[in-house]
Amino acid sequence: MASPRDPVADLRRIAFLLERANEATYRVRAFRSAAAVVAKTPHDELVARAEAGTLAKLAGVGDVTARCVTESLAGEEPVYLRRIAATEGTDLPAAAAELRSALRGDCHVHSDWSDGGSPIEEMALAAADLGHEYFVLTDHSPRLTVARGLTADRLRKQLDHVDRLNAALPEGFRILTGIEVDILEDGGLDQEDELLARLDLVVGSVHSKLRDDAARMTRRMVTAIANPHLDVLGHMTGRKVAAAGEGDAAHRKARTRPPSDFDLERVIGAVLEHGKAIEINSRPDRLDPPKRMLTVAREAGCLFTVDTDAHAPGQLDWLDFGCERAALCGVPADRIVNTWTAERLTRWTASHA
Ligand SMILES: [Zn+2]
Ligand SMILES: [Zn+2]
Repeated sequence: MASPRDPVADLRRIAFLLERANEATYRVRAFRSAAAVVAKTPHDELVARAEAGTLAKLAGVGDVTARCVTESLAGEEPVYLRRIAATEGTDLPAAAAELRSALRGDCHVHSDWSDGGSPIEEMALAAADLGHEYFVLTDHSPRLTVARGLTADRLRKQLDHVDRLNAALPEGFRILTGIEVDILEDGGLDQEDELLARLDLVVGSVHSKLRDDAARMTRRMVTAIANPHLDVLGHMTGRKVAAAGEGDAAHRKARTRPPSDFDLERVIGAVLEHGKAIEINSRPDRLDPPKRMLTVAREAGCLFTVDTDAHAPGQLDWLDFGCERAALCGVPADRIVNTWTAERLTRWTASHA
């Protein structure tokens, strides 16, 4: 008899690796939906279908995913999985690897409550698997309608939901509550004060009018940083860079965006004055702030986070990219707030209200 493998775990592992490699969402989705269908199908039926060659008749299972399930059930590592696992990334340079191992969590994570692709619990289980002690759930705020930003009401519901999830999650992992709140044109934050005050951590980001002139953008950012609810300034320049592997060269160029124009010294001054942190955003299509700015901020003595801004479980592993940049720019581990325990982190955020 073949040694038993779990076809659901194999399908999920493939999805994770594809997400981490920044593959197109539809390709990843095929594996995640197949995993969900297979998880609901009785084992005996799966075996019978694999023998009869009718797995692909299940709604949500295609030829490729059916082959993976058949191989899993036969006790073999699916060929598809073996192939992606073989092309996994190279080792991190030592200094970056040291930072990476010092990280205890992630302060910027999305779920399918806004524009993420997966439920909160799936994100949480993947993070726990990576060895995280926590992440901060930071779905978008109401004005970002394209990302299904959460109204005050939906955010309240999410907080209750997170309470219940936390009670059921594996020991040693915890979801912290948060938001990626839009920094409005006047520097205000796009959510009710009472709610912002309740959250464990608030990331504030600019998502609109990115081409405003420097004076306006600086005023807007400085006002937001001074707001006691904001803890972390998200992807500070808003730039988009061409992520490797995303279509052809012309397509990649079309997706890039230059950094916003603002007075870096004044923004850094505000971050220092109010004791906030600057996010080092690890997304391959953001890598924000650019190294030059990151170095200036480090020299000035700022605190940082290294975040993934993950919209899918596999993207939670993008911390490597942020750590690489942090190490290149000489950022020490103790100035990265997500190397801290959840207790210390929330004490720090509470110190700003
Ligand atoms: Zn988003
Ligand atoms: Zn954002």
